[in-house]
Amino acid sequence: MSTPTVNDLAELREHLTRPDGTTVLALPGDPGYAVATPWNVAKTVTPQAVVLAETAEDISRTVAFATDQGLRVAVQCTGHGATGLTAQDVEKADVLLVHTGRMNDVQIDPQTRTARLGAGVIWQQVIEAAAPYGLAPIVGSAPGVGAVGFLTGGGIGPLSRTYGLASDLVRAFELVTGNGELRRVTATENPELFWGLRGGKATLGIVTAVELELLPLSGFYGGAIYLDAGDAEVTGRVLHAWRAWSLNLPEHANTSIAIFQLPPLPAVPPPLAGRMTVGIRYTSTAPEPEAAELFAPMRALGTPLIDAVGPMPFAAIGAVHADPVDPMPVAEEATLLSELPTEAVDEILRVTGPGSGSVQLVAEIRRLGGVLAKEPEHADAFSHREAGYSFFAAGVLAPEIAAIVKPQAQAMTAALARWSTGGFMPNFSSDLTAAERVSSYDESTRKRLADLADSYDPAGTFRVGQVVRH
Ligand SMILES: Cc1cc2nc3c(=O)[nH]c(=O)nc-3n(C[C@H](O)[C@H](O)[C@H](O)COP(=O)(O)OP(=O)(O)OC[C@H]3O[C@@H](n4cnc5c(N)ncnc54)[C@H](O)[C@@H]3O)c2cc1C
Repeated sequence: MSTPTVNDLAELREHLTRPDGTTVLALPGDPGYAVATPWNVAKTVTPQAVVLAETAEDISRTVAFATDQGLRVAVQCTGHGATGLTAQDVEKADVLLVHTGRMNDVQIDPQTRTARLGAGVIWQQVIEAAAPYGLAPIVGSAPGVGAVGFLTGGGIGPLSRTYGLASDLVRAFELVTGNGELRRVTATENPELFWGLRGGKATLGIVTAVELELLPLSGFYGGAIYLDAGDAEVTGRVLHAWRAWSLNLPEHANTSIAIFQLPPLPAVPPPLAGRMTVGIRYTSTAPEPEAAELFAPMRALGTPLIDAVGPMPFAAIGAVHADPVDPMPVAEEATLLSELPTEAVDEILRVTGPGSGSVQLVAEIRRLGGVLAKEPEHADAFSHREAGYSFFAAGVLAPEIAAIVKPQAQAMTAALARWSTGGFMPNFSSDLTAAERVSSYDESTRKRLADLADSYDPAGTFRVGQVVRH
């Protein structure tokens, strides 16, 4: 494929120029191009051009132009799941990046309990817009993540055991497919695309808007307690107790446990900075006395450095995981576990606990199951409902440890291989190679997605980034 030159893109620039002469096409060096810098700044994203899309038509025109010219189109919102895209990489030299950040309109309809989101909306906006009506979306651990990127990967979060995958609540997508056509996608209109968009990431095209059911939920009981993890015996006791406790939780309860090594930065609470700590996260939608009683055994494990578990407004959902907000260079590694026997906890302690030599910022286990494990109302392309737990490690690529972060995290998932399902959630697959990414889907889902991509994008315009193709 040929690399487009500034001249080749003149026609596209014309399509993307407003009556007042301003354009939403940014070439390297133009103001606006830098918006492509992703949240995960370890990923280099330097495409041939960035389209700062403001409307679905901007996206349609870009895709139609690219298909006509034999170029490819990738999509990015916040860059929390950026896969890396550089014009220096010959394989990726012909890529235009659609950036959706300007399509950030949120509309709430309290009567139908639905939200309509533009492709550039982040969860925090939806949380804030829905809260005055006592409504809430199902979100992940970090409200700064893009809603559409999250939903196209299924989306698990602090309430998944209670309400299922976030994408189970999608009622409609608007989607630009490979020929530039804008289609409405629901359970009854283009149902095969409705199946594939809930799990298939950008394989089938670029989503321009989503309609989403909201939950009548204004608050929850939960948060996190943090304990010192300096002592191996104490940390072992905590992890094993959490394992046994988390095994048979009711569906109204959700939990994860994480070993942290947080740096002494202003954003980090002083009791947690510069030491190894263990955080037990919890949410419950049960009435406060019942929810508090269920969590009591975790509270009894020791004197916490911080106890921030209690009745919370839904707007505080981000505090449960307290994920980093500011952009940073990170490497991630994840695996799904079918079960978590005591031997698996011993392995986790050996590779991530006190004395392990771990340099990871966080190593966490989330309890899955509950409603998440049940078949959704409409079948989808998410293949991992049966997993009982997820393991995730993330490290900051600071110069002094950059070389060991990723191999060490890989050694951690290798240590858990005996209990792994062998699969990866699409939302935690951005750091994988194309060959590894195959495991984001079971074989029949992968084939069906690739077949659909062949029929809706025969020119291969979207054959870049986190997509599934033959
Ligand atoms: C700190 C942190 C916490 C996270 N927590 C969770 C969590 O709790 N649960 C969870 O499930 N995931 C979680 N993730 C993963 C996150 O959901 C994915 O990385 C998601 O893809 C991010 O979407 P984005 O738009 O913000 O990122 P981007 O990097 O902008 O997009 C990532 C990918 O999403 C797809 N995509 C984005 N926009 C569109 C579109 N308009 N049309 C079609 N496809 C699109 C594309 O494949 C794109 O490459 C977390 C990630 C981070 C960094």
